[in-house]
Amino acid sequence: MNRLNKQFKICSRDNCSREIINIAPHRMSQPFFTEHCSLYCWKSDCETHQSESTKKNPPILHNCESCGCPFELRYSNQWANQIFCSKKCQHKTYRGPRVKQSIKILQFLKNKYLINPTDTSGWTSEEIVFQINAAHPALTLTVGGTSQKIKRYIARQIIIDVDSDAKPKKYRFNPIAINTPLESLIHGKI
Ligand SMILES: [Zn+2]
Ligand SMILES: [Zn+2]
Repeated sequence: MNRLNKQFKICSRDNCSREIINIAPHRMSQPFFTEHCSLYCWKSDCETHQSESTKKNPPILHNCESCGCPFELRYSNQWANQIFCSKKCQHKTYRGPRVKQSIKILQFLKNKYLINPTDTSGWTSEEIVFQINAAHPALTLTVGGTSQKIKRYIARQIIIDVDSDAKPKKYRFNPIAINTPLESLIHGKI
């Protein structure tokens, strides 16, 4: 079965009954998590030490993908997939042409790595494009354009070509870049 088939799947986090949305432009639409509705729920299940709070959905700390500083990630629909601590950091990262596409490609591979670090099988450009476009149709990623971007990140050791003989090629996030904010990866500060 196609793993992107529209299905009404509910978030696996105990305190959450939101639907997992990975198709269509919607605030909660995300192409990364298959068992959770959002970054908030995924992270809060990963980090049990943060769940000692008596609140049902307490804010949890997450590092900003621009400045690297921890900020409070919140459960509400509006904030559950937030990756920047502030508008300032968001604008700093989104500067430049077609940067949104680079952000989504890197964010996709980074999240897939974080969800399952031992899965080294990788993703083809076609799979990456299909999943990102399903959740963010306005980006209109193309397979060719995505492969070009990925090539540049391979040259900078941010993405790994998992098997140089494989056809089509498969890619994964390089674990050495996992603690570097996306802004530094995209704007070349490493
Ligand atoms: Zn959830
Ligand atoms: Zn920040």
